[in-house]
Amino acid sequence: AVPLLRATDLSKTYRVGRSLLPARRRAVQAVSEVSLEVMPGETLGIVGESGCGKSSLGRCLMRLQDITSGRLEFEGRDITRASAARMRPLRREMQMVFQDPAASLNPRRRVGDLLSDPFRIHAACDRAEIPDRVAALLRRVDLLPEHAMRFPHEFSGGQKQRIGIARALALRPKLVVADEPVSALDVSIQAQIVNLLADLREELGLTYIFIAHDLSVVRQISNRVAVMYLGSVVETGPVDQVFAAPRHPYTAALRSAVPVPKVDVPRPARTILTGDLPSPMNPPSGCRFHTRCPRATALCKAERPAMLPDGRGAAVACHHPLEG
Ligand code: SF4
Ligand code: MG
Repeated sequence: AVPLLRATDLSKTYRVGRSLLPARRRAVQAVSEVSLEVMPGETLGIVGESGCGKSSLGRCLMRLQDITSGRLEFEGRDITRASAARMRPLRREMQMVFQDPAASLNPRRRVGDLLSDPFRIHAACDRAEIPDRVAALLRRVDLLPEHAMRFPHEFSGGQKQRIGIARALALRPKLVVADEPVSALDVSIQAQIVNLLADLREELGLTYIFIAHDLSVVRQISNRVAVMYLGSVVETGPVDQVFAAPRHPYTAALRSAVPVPKVDVPRPARTILTGDLPSPMNPPSGCRFHTRCPRATALCKAERPAMLPDGRGAAVACHHPLEG
């Protein structure tokens, strides 16, 4: 089968400000040689600390920003440098849900108008049909058709995110990239939104890329996971396998920082993450995790480890991986 989305050695470099520093010192490599695949119907979780480049990666995968190097394919077609005109029909098929629904909803427009936009912009249906389509969308995310007359500020945070999801789904996309869709919400609301996304995935046959810093949230909805550290993917695999038996020391450390919900589940041995996330402007040599890794050796400092597939759908980039 052809992956819905495939990234090969994808990198994104930003120039930061103007300064007297030489050009190479002003470049931040936010995404560094990331390769990943998402098959139709699956959910790939992308997890890592804030600042690890996961939002930049999400925006590159949606072609919402330029890709510096590497290759991106959607349904087997190369879209790495596709023009805005070539991307336009694909915009219907790839949609994004953002962390802060309030910021992505114009406060001066009624919800019904906001939800009409996708149909109008893409001339997706007759104008006369739009109100019915909007009502159906609202019901689909467990809101009411009457809500079309209200303004965004009249809704709670969770309801606003339902509206953001409704807008992303208006044109029945194939792929939805959700960037921290529940991080701004109360914990009690988070599960409702994750469950809604999971239900919509089944009903509409969606494929998700689900980005979060919170492992437990990613675990609830993903089939596979990619763990990111300082712009690179360091471990990928089936979600249960990666969390039950992480092979990369960073994954192990991330996991031990997650509160374990049930008392009868033994807490994994704690690996304390010492030190702050290094600056992506001046990343460590060799393995970028060596400054914080309890297993680091001279080899780790000198050589960047390549991603090694285990032949069963998982891969890890580490010179001294854990047994798993
Ligand atoms: Fe740690 Fe070395 Fe593995 Fe990097 S390559 S994660 S420093 S053991
Ligand atoms: Mg982010």
